[in-house]
Amino acid sequence: DNKHNKPRSQVMDKLNEWYQMLLSKNQTALNYIKERGIYESSIEKFGIGYAPESQATLNYIRSQQFSIKEAIDMGVVGYNQERNQTYARFVERITFPIFSANGSIVGFGGRTITGHQAKYVNSPETAFFNKSRLLYAYHLAKQSLHKKQEIIITEGYLDVIMLHQAGFDNAVATLGTALTHEHLPLLRKGSPRVVMAYDGDKAGRAAALKASKLLSASGFNGGVVVFSGGLDPADMVKEGRVEELSNMFREAKPFIEFVLDEILSLYNLKDPKAKESCMQEGIAYLKTLSPILQEEYKTYLASRLGGLGVSPSLLKLNTQTNTNRQNIPQQR
Ligand code: ATP
Ligand code: MN
Ligand code: MN
Ligand code: MN
Repeated sequence: DNKHNKPRSQVMDKLNEWYQMLLSKNQTALNYIKERGIYESSIEKFGIGYAPESQATLNYIRSQQFSIKEAIDMGVVGYNQERNQTYARFVERITFPIFSANGSIVGFGGRTITGHQAKYVNSPETAFFNKSRLLYAYHLAKQSLHKKQEIIITEGYLDVIMLHQAGFDNAVATLGTALTHEHLPLLRKGSPRVVMAYDGDKAGRAAALKASKLLSASGFNGGVVVFSGGLDPADMVKEGRVEELSNMFREAKPFIEFVLDEILSLYNLKDPKAKESCMQEGIAYLKTLSPILQEEYKTYLASRLGGLGVSPSLLKLNTQTNTNRQNIPQQR
């Protein structure tokens, strides 16, 4: 039976080709893309497309050599049990195919161009689409990140596309999730320095802090850039601030300093009680690091807490309690 067991990639490729064709014919969607500053060459490079209203997608799928069930398994069609109804996942959205590291489409992201309250929709989690393991555009950034020995991690599709346009073709994005330990095997490949370039808003900064704790405890080199005014990398490129970006990436604040500075900023250090809590939180974090780094940054923490008689020896670190650490630092 022709309607069953089509290779997954064939279904996804077909659908993406169709989305791409629809974009080329949709002036509203093309105007949106142009207004965002996306080049025509990027439409091709990233395989950007356009998903129409729901029924058109369902009709298209029925007209093809694959079943609705397959489309549901792929996550591109949803099924509402209550209403016993199928619906297209991506409706009136710009589509961004998401590729595995070796270049086959495993899912999609979709950005509304009609002001729908969900700005983005992503494919649901499936056996082959694991958001906490994937990095958007890794297959495109792979060569460059090995050559440059640096990978730039952003929050979103637009950030990646705009950075690539500005020459930062070693940029990738997490897919609306935090950076997790499941991402780390991919990040270890080729041992690049990791630059976290999340949004400069509160959420982005909190996510960068979590990621920095994880990366430093796992022995990664690299650092964090923080954009002022809540901007994100796409905004920076759109504003023509490419030179500035390049300097920021080069001078990214090392993970451990970033984490300690964020912790220090949480407390009123004029209050001895608060200062004690701050010290404890700082020490708890330092214990996730290698013994050598603990020593190194004990001094850093003491000097930041200091002026008020905190010496490194007061920050007693028992390296035996270091049970969280999963890895010794990479030698670079
Ligand atoms: P734009 O991408 O249009 O510039 P933005 O920068 O305000 O909008 P953010 O809200 O910062 O977008 O979102 C950044 C990224 O987070 C998106 O590219 C997407 O990957 C993810 N994301 C945002 N909202 C959602 C959502 N509702 N569901 C899933 N992922 C989301
Ligand atoms: Mn944001
Ligand atoms: Mn953003
Ligand atoms: Mn943005």
